Amino acid sequence: MTAQPPEITPFFGLRPAPSATRPRDPRPGVSGLSAEELTAWAAERGLPAYRARQVLDAVWRGRQDDFAQVLTLPAAIREQLAEAFRFDTLAETEVRPTDGGLTEKAVHRLSDGLLIESVLMHYPARVGARERHTLCISSQAGCAVGCPFCATGELGMERDLEAAEILDQVRHAQRRLAAAGKHLTNVVFMGMGEPLMNLDRVLEAIEALNDPARFGLGARHIAVSTSGVVPGIRRLTALGPQFTLAISLHAARNPLRDVLVPLNRRWPVEEVVAAAREHAGATGRRVTYELTMIEGINDTDADADALAELLRGDLAHVNLIPMNQVAHTPWTGSPIPVVERFADRVRAAGIAVTIRFNRGTEIGAACGQLAAEHAGQPTPAVVKRRRERIVAQSAAALRGERSSEPAPALAAAEAAS
Ligand code: SAH
Ligand code: SF4
Repeated sequence: MTAQPPEITPFFGLRPAPSATRPRDPRPGVSGLSAEELTAWAAERGLPAYRARQVLDAVWRGRQDDFAQVLTLPAAIREQLAEAFRFDTLAETEVRPTDGGLTEKAVHRLSDGLLIESVLMHYPARVGARERHTLCISSQAGCAVGCPFCATGELGMERDLEAAEILDQVRHAQRRLAAAGKHLTNVVFMGMGEPLMNLDRVLEAIEALNDPARFGLGARHIAVSTSGVVPGIRRLTALGPQFTLAISLHAARNPLRDVLVPLNRRWPVEEVVAAAREHAGATGRRVTYELTMIEGINDTDADADALAELLRGDLAHVNLIPMNQVAHTPWTGSPIPVVERFADRVRAAGIAVTIRFNRGTEIGAACGQLAAEHAGQPTPAVVKRRRERIVAQSAAALRGERSSEPAPALAAAEAAS
């Protein structure tokens, strides 16, 4: 972990501006570079190819914080590297353990001052299952989709992350694990942001994670979660990678999904599920559907039956996660017996269902919450207005009325296609 300059500490408890506070560092992050790119860089400077391999080794397997500490390289090359690239794009990182050490939430500050989060979850070995260490990473600073139950949605969109900013979250977690003689086993794009609205950079990052010369993690150990950017799902299907696709469904009925996932106003639930079905057909991989369960909103028998009808016969797995409380919503998570009843009704239609009671963070439920905390709490008047709007929208949705509000962020979503 890098040292923190005194003017920034203490990291937690401060209320830094939610938006960028300084210009971005123009140097690319070195973790975004492939062996070929580094070799070409070295060749342009008359350096032998093995220098590029040494750099890759230091970046992906070393414990150093800076090029200056990579003593396998001569000082002149270290200086050239530092001029051209950033060793780490996450300027400062503060780690906060929770769940008795089973979960570590990290807040990272980017070069322009924006904050993003990653969450590392430890799963001890059990009978029939090996020990796992799963990292939930962010793909954007903020998010344009604006789901009303999500802390990141509340922040609004700041910017897309660079591939290296995505990858450096993984490097940080891996370094912490390596210090304890452990390895990261899974990476999930379920932190802040909508990965399919930053798909080029996300694909670059996945390529680096897969690359044996860099992180070397099998695609099957990577999951990408989307709120339903249909062109992005189709693009993934055409590319054919074997990672897990997770769809944040939240509701099977359009009027309610329009409110819970505003992107539904552009790509309604049937189109999202059709695209996911094609993905399952093409890759042979089961699609995961996530439902954040909100008391009295999307947890009724009618919702369970609509879900069962929507997914009947599909290669699908449903995850039910009671909503984590966030400041700006009037809602609470569904009580456990309600979630169990919902699960039973969906299972009765032959669909696999898992309930995630106590590790909601596994799907990134907590992602965005710390950054939102840092961004400062909205005033009580603002919270009141938002809550009233959400209540009015969801009341109309529960009466079966479709929203007349426009879909958000379409330019970015369409550009992903
Ligand atoms: N934007 C993508 C990926 C990041 S969100 C997506 O929406 O799929 C990752 C997951 O966290 C989503 O399934 C989202 O619904 C869930 N989530 C967000 N806020 C939550 C909350 N307050 N409680 C529980 N789950 C939440
Ligand atoms: Fe964005 Fe996902 Fe949060 Fe919705 S749930 S606002 S898509 S990060």
